[in-house]
Amino acid sequence: MTILVTGGAGYIGSHTVAELVQHGESVVVVDSLQTGHRGAVLASLNVPLYDFDIRDTAQMVDVLQRHAVDTVIHFAANSLVGESVQNPLKYYDNNVAGTAKLLEAMVQANVLCIVFSSTAAVYGLPERMPIREADRKLPTNPYGETKLAIERMFHWANQAYGLSSVSLRYFNAAGAHPTLPIGEDHQPESHLIPIILQVALGQREKVNIFGDDYDTADGTCIRDYIHVMDLAKAHRLAVQYLRNGEKGASAFNLGNGSGFSVQEVIDVARKVTGHPIPAQVSPRRAGDPPQLIADATEAHRVLGWTPERTELAEIVASAWQWHQAHPQGYQD
Ligand code: UDP
Repeated sequence: MTILVTGGAGYIGSHTVAELVQHGESVVVVDSLQTGHRGAVLASLNVPLYDFDIRDTAQMVDVLQRHAVDTVIHFAANSLVGESVQNPLKYYDNNVAGTAKLLEAMVQANVLCIVFSSTAAVYGLPERMPIREADRKLPTNPYGETKLAIERMFHWANQAYGLSSVSLRYFNAAGAHPTLPIGEDHQPESHLIPIILQVALGQREKVNIFGDDYDTADGTCIRDYIHVMDLAKAHRLAVQYLRNGEKGASAFNLGNGSGFSVQEVIDVARKVTGHPIPAQVSPRRAGDPPQLIADATEAHRVLGWTPERTELAEIVASAWQWHQAHPQGYQD
């Protein structure tokens, strides 16, 4: 039995591939390398990397059959909120149409299990905190909207073709692999922790705090930061859940259940790096909810998932280790 990982050369995908291989799984990666990095699929893991678009049905069917794939983990997508607002059709094309083509190939090859990389952005402005899976879903940007559309696609594909799926709604992924040389490398970078660490590396002058007048204790936005290796583990458990014969289309939040403000993240990073990390308050970023915290009780109860690296200092320290060793990222 082989697991096919789409987007396995991306940030969370590459850490999940490493987690799977380290647990004895046979893995194959499909990645167009549009945003992924060849270097993120480590040669030492001995995982085949196929460089084609998930919409290439003929190649996808061929790889699914040739490797006797039983489950797909699907990361391949565009994931920049700002870009999705500027260019929504790109997101409908790559994310929604791309997933429809992937499912078409899976149905043709009779591979009927999928674990999907979803997001807290499906909720939009939450009605209560912490957020539960059944809460209102009203995305505030095309990125979240396309991820929600894909979750709905799984529901109907389950009814029509018997496709079983688990959608994992990540909160704020952060950190890097504790022992292997993989980490976060987005071009351009928009996420808070890598930006802060780029300041500590002297690559940026300062970090902009997007708003300090939110209704939170220190006025800055609160997010639930979750270590990328804990996310990777959740994917492995979700594959197990499907292999145990679970049918249907389910969705789980993945977060630590505790929130940190932008100001707190900067303070922790100052301690971890020993760098002053100059910060300046700037205007709010459009569409940012004041607070996003996961209720991940269901992932614990159903998948048996418990995050292990929950200390923010540990999360930031693992990211710092990667950034120091790879100040220019993968350079590919
Ligand atoms: N943020 C910030 N300055 C930055 C980047 C992000 O103040 O340069 C804030 C952002 O407004 C949000 C939090 O940090 O409240 C986390 O943002 P990120 O883009 O990392 O993840 P998101 O929560 O948008 O998925």
